[in-house]
Order: sequence, then structure tokens, then C-alpha cells
Amino acid sequence: LVEAIATQIGVALIQAEAYANLEDLNQQLEALDRTRANLVAITGHELRTPLSTIQVCLESLATEPDMSLELRQVMLNTALADTERMRKLIQDFLTLSRLESGRVEWHPEPLSLNECIDLAISSIHARNLNNDLPEISSQISPDLPLVRADGEWLVEVLVKLLDNACKFTPPQGNVTIKADSNGNLLKVTVTDTGRGIEPNRLQVVFDRFYQEEGALRRTTGGTGLGLAICRQIVNNWGGEIWAESEGKDQGSAFHFTIPMISSRSEPRRSGNTNK
Ligand code: ADP
Repeated sequence: LVEAIATQIGVALIQAEAYANLEDLNQQLEALDRTRANLVAITGHELRTPLSTIQVCLESLATEPDMSLELRQVMLNTALADTERMRKLIQDFLTLSRLESGRVEWHPEPLSLNECIDLAISSIHARNLNNDLPEISSQISPDLPLVRADGEWLVEVLVKLLDNACKFTPPQGNVTIKADSNGNLLKVTVTDTGRGIEPNRLQVVFDRFYQEEGALRRTTGGTGLGLAICRQIVNNWGGEIWAESEGKDQGSAFHFTIPMISSRSEPRRSGNTNK
């Protein structure tokens, strides 16, 4: 009898566990569904806003033949800027979706951080048509051990962090990149002397579509997806990414960690920005 009761208890426990797992699974599915619905709503809003502006500009150009040349130019420039914003948004959104759904093939290899930083800085300079960047200086020792990562994605993280640092720092400010080794990890830090981040915003800046007040979005031309993309990439190689700032106008520092290779004997490759 005792044996039979023990068996019954065992079966009941297994069933209870199965139900608990099922409940867990249900909760996870519900959370996923909520995220999907949020994402559709947010993306819809983010795309609709520039699209409406483009429509208004084109309608005015089409229906107001007497519009002055200056105003025409303003309308065209606004429509072009919002078209570019939509293009970036779709590109970042697709990149984030690929990363989140695990559809990215990773090719980690030994890399020189210095070479990846050089590529990232050149890419930032090449895109800066207004010539209004703060000074960017790299303080990385040439003897630094190699890191192990996918070069294409490491350069992507560096470009996004440097790009943000430059966007939120006036031209007379400074942006610095440095690296410190800690065990078998390397901590890479991008510091700027720009507008800073309030302490209660240091975590949320990594959320999708988070941006400071809407008006600034227009002038900085970002998508609000850059840091979410960086976090996905860094997590993939087992690293962490975080932000520090003393607050408004106190500058910011973004850190991320990356695995280091102790020996320099492995063949070396630099990153590649072509996706
Ligand atoms: P965005 O495309 O807007 O730059 P990100 O995801 O890269 O999107 O950054 C999200 C937000 O975090 C930015 O809009 C800005 O408010 C804040 N942020 C990011 N980097 C910095 C920085 N270096 N200094 C101040 N604020 C920053």
C-alpha cells in the first residue's frame, strides 16, 4: 500500500510539474504576443510620422505652383530627410529582428581591436558631410592582445557608440575610446563630453525606440534602435554593455566587454563593414 501511495504521489508530482511548465510556457507565449503587438504598434507609429511629413511636403509641392523657390527647397529637403529616416529605421529594425530571432550566422575570429576602431572612425568621418564632428581620439595600446569576435558586428557596435557620442557632443567637445583588460575580458569604453544622461535613464537607453524628448530626434536623426542592436551583438559573444553618466551636461561613458585571446600567434584579421 505504501508503495502504491508513493507511486501515486510521484505521478501527481510529475503532473503538477507538467502543469506548472505548461503554465510557464503559456505565460511566456502571452508575453511574446504582447511584445509583438507593442512592436507592430510602435513601428507603425515610427514609420507613419515621417511618411505623413513626406506626403504633406509632396502635396504642397504638387498643388501650390506659386510657392517660392526657397520654400520649395525647404519642402524637398524635409521630404528627403524623412525618407532617409525611414530607410535607416527599416534597416535598423530588420537588423534587430535578425539578431533577436537568431537568424544571424556568427563568424568569430581573432581580431585587432585597433584595426576595428580605425575602420569605425573612418566610417564616421566618411559620413560626416557637415564637418562638425568633435575630436575623436583612440587611446588603445598597440600591444593589446587580440579579441575574439565577428569583425563585421564588432565594427557595427563601435560605429554605433562613436556615432552616438558624436551626435550628443558639440563640435568643440571630445570623444575618446580606450580599453582595459580584466582577466580574459577586455573592457572597451567610449567616453564623450556631451549632453550626458540622467541617472534614471541609464538603463532605458538600451530599450527599443527609446529617445530623449521627441524634438531632439529630428535634429539627431537617430532611430532609437542603435543601443538595442549593440546589446544584442555584445550579448552574443557573452559580453555586457552598460552606460555611465553623472547627469545632464556631464558627458557619458558607454562600456562593453569582449573576450580576449592571450596569445597573438593566431592569424589576425580586421573587421569588415560590408554586410
Ligand atoms: P538613436 O538612434 O536615437 O541614437 P540609440 O538606441 O543609439 O538611438 O540611443 C537611444 C537614446 O539614448 C538616444 O536617443 C539618446 O537619448 C541616448 N543616448 C545614447 N547615446 C548617448 C550619448 N552618448 N550621450 C547622451 N545620450 C545618449
